[in-house]
Amino acid sequence: MTSQATRVLVLNSGSSSVKYQLLDMRDGTRLAVGLVERIGENTSRLVHTPAGEGARERTERIADHEQALKAVAAELALDGTGIDSPDLAAIGHRVVHGGAAFSAPTVIDDAVLAEIERLVPVAPLHNPANITGIRTARALRPDLPQVAVFDTAFHTTMPEHAARYAIDVETADAHRIRRYGFHGTSHAYVSRRTAELLGRPPEELNLIVLHLGNGASASAVAGGRCVDTSMGLTPLEGLVMGTRSGDIDPAVVFHLERVAGMDTDEIDELLNKKSGLMGLCGDNDMREIRRRVDEGDERARLAFGIYIHRLKKYIGAYYAVLGRVDAVVFTAGVGENAAPVREAAMAGLDGLGLVVDAELNAVRSGEPRLVSPEHARVAVAVVPTDEEMEIARQTFALVDA
Ligand code: AMP
Repeated sequence: MTSQATRVLVLNSGSSSVKYQLLDMRDGTRLAVGLVERIGENTSRLVHTPAGEGARERTERIADHEQALKAVAAELALDGTGIDSPDLAAIGHRVVHGGAAFSAPTVIDDAVLAEIERLVPVAPLHNPANITGIRTARALRPDLPQVAVFDTAFHTTMPEHAARYAIDVETADAHRIRRYGFHGTSHAYVSRRTAELLGRPPEELNLIVLHLGNGASASAVAGGRCVDTSMGLTPLEGLVMGTRSGDIDPAVVFHLERVAGMDTDEIDELLNKKSGLMGLCGDNDMREIRRRVDEGDERARLAFGIYIHRLKKYIGAYYAVLGRVDAVVFTAGVGENAAPVREAAMAGLDGLGLVVDAELNAVRSGEPRLVSPEHARVAVAVVPTDEEMEIARQTFALVDA
């Protein structure tokens, strides 16, 4: 790496999409953001937005991830920030599942790639796409450090009593069945930013972080380390999400097989894609659900009620796990934007020191902020997440060392 190399390209490769950002780590400037979607279809779409300029957009067939990355490289080259530039220090890859082995960002070599591949059985939807992105990027710039930043890494500090399911130990170990947790990059970033907002060192703080997006997860963070989180072996466990059920009695699965005659793939689809808010009321966008609630729609009201009830159960559980809480923090699409969700989740929790100030809660802002009254016993905060920035930061810290 040359001394002037301060840029990091962040790649988030999905099964039919690649999201990317180019950041300059001297000051965290975003030089470009973009997205290729519908890879493999005739109407693939690339949207590339250089800093301070309008988006460039084109729709054409992009056959595979290799073509997609080449198209991204061409767009970056047009801006004079191509991936063959000596300014590029590394490529940081979002990798969903790092299993129990990867507790930190890792420079990717053949052995690391093989280990990520070994984890495909526990992340069949995500890791294959991440691997394709890594292989393609390595082929384009074999000389450049490529770093994997794992969604699970932040949660590897969970104690065994939080990470293990109460099932037969031999069976669990043989199939690597345990609670891994996800959204870790977001929980890590938000925890750190909350400490900055409160003006206190992370080591002193106990936090409950609520990442409420289309996927949703809660975590209990003690002294900067995750001690429990709501997602498990897969992102299906825990909170009610846009289309995922979150916690259910596992016997529901047997019942669907035996009584409803559904097969494994159908149940998988039901619980991951047709449940949660969508399954309950036919909408998974909180804006639409709130609009319907305000119009007196009964199904939307029930869906909202179930969502909030589950959220409260996790807040209470993590309060008990932590013993003392300094802040409850809301982040991601719903957490950052939906004041009614924050208000409803905190309602009736004043006995725990949790109170929301209606005026502060109504403020719309992209900045980290407190929504609790000034002298509240426990802070309630809104801290916008930035997973790309965190991936870039962790990547750069590793290669700049
Ligand atoms: P994310 O997965 O973090 O991108 O969050 C996406 C979700 O955020 C959407 O499905 C919406 O439900 C929610 N969302 C975004 N903006 C708002 C808003 N202004 N009010 C309520 N919910 C919102």
